[in-house]
Amino acid sequence: MTKPFRTGTNHLFIPGPTNVPEAVRRAMNVAQEDQRGPEFGAFVLGLIRDLKPVFGTTQRVMLIPGSGSAAWEAAIVNTLSPGDRVLMARHGQFSTLWAKMAADLGLEVELVDLAWGAGTPVNEFARRLGADREGKIKAVFVTHNETATGVTSNVAGVRQALDSALHDAMLFVDGVSSIGSMPFEMDEWGVDLAVTGSQKGLMCPAGLGILGVSDKAMKASKTATMRRGFFAFADFELQAAQGYFPHTPPTPVLHGLRVALDRLHAEGLPAVFARHARLAQGVRAAVAAWGLETCAESAALASNSVTAVRVPPHVDAREVIRIGYERYNTSFGSGLAQLAGKVFRIGHLGDLNEGMCLTAIALAEMCLREAGADVALGSGVAAAQAVYEHAPRLALAAE
Ligand SMILES: *Cc1c(COP(=O)(O)O)cnc(C)c1O
Repeated sequence: MTKPFRTGTNHLFIPGPTNVPEAVRRAMNVAQEDQRGPEFGAFVLGLIRDLKPVFGTTQRVMLIPGSGSAAWEAAIVNTLSPGDRVLMARHGQFSTLWAKMAADLGLEVELVDLAWGAGTPVNEFARRLGADREGKIKAVFVTHNETATGVTSNVAGVRQALDSALHDAMLFVDGVSSIGSMPFEMDEWGVDLAVTGSQKGLMCPAGLGILGVSDKAMKASKTATMRRGFFAFADFELQAAQGYFPHTPPTPVLHGLRVALDRLHAEGLPAVFARHARLAQGVRAAVAAWGLETCAESAALASNSVTAVRVPPHVDAREVIRIGYERYNTSFGSGLAQLAGKVFRIGHLGDLNEGMCLTAIALAEMCLREAGADVALGSGVAAAQAVYEHAPRLALAAE
């Protein structure tokens, strides 16, 4: 297919990579530099300092070249041993892939399979942890925001389940599409390994896996016996103390991250989270006005960073996405694996505002109609406008 000539903005409404703010993009246009030079360590320490509140931790944040999946792997291979039992749920493509990686790396994965659209089964986890008198379960994995289904799970609830069972398993949390967009309280929730990447809520290109590592996880890494090479925490320990990487880091992404963090803290994290909640509320109001449903099973589970929209049975969601791409210079997220053709996803995280969400909704309406869905033009837009018009704003920290 020859690429059509395109004018205007390329609308990126996928849940990652997200839009990179212009200031972040400019900051990445830097000459290559000496990553062992005297200033570089201090520069990286500043990034780590400013990442910690985004993770909700005073413990340890590590920057590892790679993507979110690399951080998944780093978390596993450093803190667990071959054959260790871990408790996980599959309720979307990302939780499924993480479970597959855990099994591939030699863990014994105790799985709870759920409908795609459900959240982490806190009660079922509590039951299994309570029944595990011998402490066979070494870690519990939670996908905080299942990006495939637009479902946010209750991490604090899983912490409570662990505490109620007096269970000392580690708590692993995938925060790839939540950290930087939603409240994340690593220390308060007792998370031992919190995983993200640079290209979602942190508004940078891909290139960095970013890990929150608790003291308990760091201690576990000294005795755990899984084989590790590139990702060995021991090699990254100098980073925490002096800011230097054991290998060559993607320095332009680090400069982008500097500006992205400045922006998050200038807006103020509470305002960032409130903005994501407000924008998501508008998108969900549009879905309801179309007479459609979200993939998330209940309103309480609905994600503030991505909405997966179920199309009517006679409509192919792949058509919605194709029409958006070919006719309107617009990318929506696809339905992954078993959701292919059944849902399309609107990513609403990162560098985003009301006008961009209204654009996404207006374009989705046209794509849905052209794909055969019976939605009224302007219905979703009006519903979202009504939300945005009256939604309260948190004062910006910078004002
Ligand atoms: C994007 C995503 C991943 C994978 O991250 P990569 O950076 O693509 O490796 C993992 N988990 C969730 C929840 C995600 O949204």
